[in-house]
Amino acid sequence: MNLVQRILDWTIQMVKRRFPNLPVFAPPPIIPPPKPTLCQAFQTLSKDVYAKLRSASAVGFELSEPTVTELCLEQIGTQYPDRVRVVKFTGTAEGKNGADWEWLFVGKSHHFKLRVQAKKLYLKDMEYGALKSSDADAQCDKLIKSANKDQSFPLYVFYNSNLEDLTGNVWRCGSYSMNIDLLGCTTMSAYSIRESIKNNQIDLADLLPKQDPWSCLVCCTLGSGNRSSELHEQVKKRIEFAYADDEVEIPELIPNEKLPYYVGTGNYVNDGPEGLAGVLIIRDSE
Ligand SMILES: [Zn+2]
Repeated sequence: MNLVQRILDWTIQMVKRRFPNLPVFAPPPIIPPPKPTLCQAFQTLSKDVYAKLRSASAVGFELSEPTVTELCLEQIGTQYPDRVRVVKFTGTAEGKNGADWEWLFVGKSHHFKLRVQAKKLYLKDMEYGALKSSDADAQCDKLIKSANKDQSFPLYVFYNSNLEDLTGNVWRCGSYSMNIDLLGCTTMSAYSIRESIKNNQIDLADLLPKQDPWSCLVCCTLGSGNRSSELHEQVKKRIEFAYADDEVEIPELIPNEKLPYYVGTGNYVNDGPEGLAGVLIIRDSE
């Protein structure tokens, strides 16, 4: 019993004693704040990442991609234990820089898959160092190939911060007004990244205008059908809407009979599929 309730109780006892014939009303119940929606959770994570990268970098410390990824996924997982599960593959891919994550949006009868590669903006030089390395092209190709083989869509997630001084149009979301720290976590199609690497347009100023806040995936219905459609359908339509120009093939929804074996397991699986660090499973609703 907390202090407020104790004081209320005590007051009621006092009043009862003093005026025994008064009708007594029950104190109003203390209502807990509503649980944030999945959309709010993604937005909050984005703001947290933005702040965290900045504060770490201010003391000369750069967080690595796997660390940021795991912290984000852990947070969503613990916030929505009945809807979200995070499975980590503890075998060969564990902790390896460059291993992908699979995001599985599961509906009643079908699911939709994304294969996600995370890249971080290094604040010291404000560059995506990993995209400038000699094997960036090959790594991007590998992500696209693995995704195609697996009926999933290849997506890059970027972790960003310190973007206040950037000029030009960097806001692609049509549903929310510009909020720079919602660009803490963004997404961009791997096809578009491949094109950018080929054209050597991989500076922050080239790439940021092509990134969407990652919350758009679960928040924004613009171009993704009506609100009544289920989340996994919405995510697919959102991907179609965002990347229609890239002339890429968007994978179909997959019947749930074909859900991968690790969906029905615990939070750790020893033998994950090649190149995957783990999987984030989000069900349509509780
Ligand atoms: Zn949006």
